[in-house]
Amino acid sequence: MTRSTTLTLALGGILAATAVGCTAAQPATPAPSPSAKAEWSYSGSNGPEHWGEYGAACEATSASHESPIAIDTAKLMPGSASSRVVPHYTAAAFELENNGHTIEAVPEDAKANSVELNGKTYYLQQFHFHATSEHTVNGKSTPAELHLVHKADDGTLLVLGVLIETGRPNTALAEVFESIPAKTSEEGEKLQQPIDPHALLPQNLESVQYAGSLTTPPCSEGVQWNLFLNPVSISAEQLAAYTAVYPDNHRPVQPLHDRTLTEVPSV
Ligand SMILES: [Zn+2]
Repeated sequence: MTRSTTLTLALGGILAATAVGCTAAQPATPAPSPSAKAEWSYSGSNGPEHWGEYGAACEATSASHESPIAIDTAKLMPGSASSRVVPHYTAAAFELENNGHTIEAVPEDAKANSVELNGKTYYLQQFHFHATSEHTVNGKSTPAELHLVHKADDGTLLVLGVLIETGRPNTALAEVFESIPAKTSEEGEKLQQPIDPHALLPQNLESVQYAGSLTTPPCSEGVQWNLFLNPVSISAEQLAAYTAVYPDNHRPVQPLHDRTLTEVPSV
């Protein structure tokens, strides 16, 4: 199997798992075509400024509500504690895979972990990483960002974003960073130890909530975002294990336009 076929299949999996009312999964055996478009990437001729060719929503317009964004904490609207995300997480088995764009951990049971937001339940579909961070806070990036992607039964998506700085090793992610697959694959490798996603969140759950999009093609909008303002820590060695495979897989910040950012207090 060629690398590009592998990537296409892997992307099909991503779309099936995360897309909002967009294209179906890619066919398992795409017909070879001399004009077939190369896979999207984070730089060069298939980089973010060309993602409109991979999904119309990726093309910036004056009405776009895309992610990620630059967060200015001086301009947040105060929100209510009743709008905070309530995790219903438990230790669960995950598989780890390199899908050609990120390292992603997928729970074996898609209903094992959920969060509640404004009375609605969203189930954890996968978590993955970006380096450097996609969101910025007061103009600053962090070395990495974790996205926990959740989906409700009606198909709507909620992503919890966790900024990652370097410092103490992250014990909850120890096996993940020791097991990062260097090569892309359609099949995940089962992790030996269960992961409780609670351990991936900061202690203080103060958050910014806003309406945004997927940060990868097809950049579909209608995604509810909850970015925690307090970072978690991984060691420099853990970051290096990730950046050895993905040195830079972040989309630049997108225009805010008319959106309101709400600051939701911790418990
Ligand atoms: Zn992401």
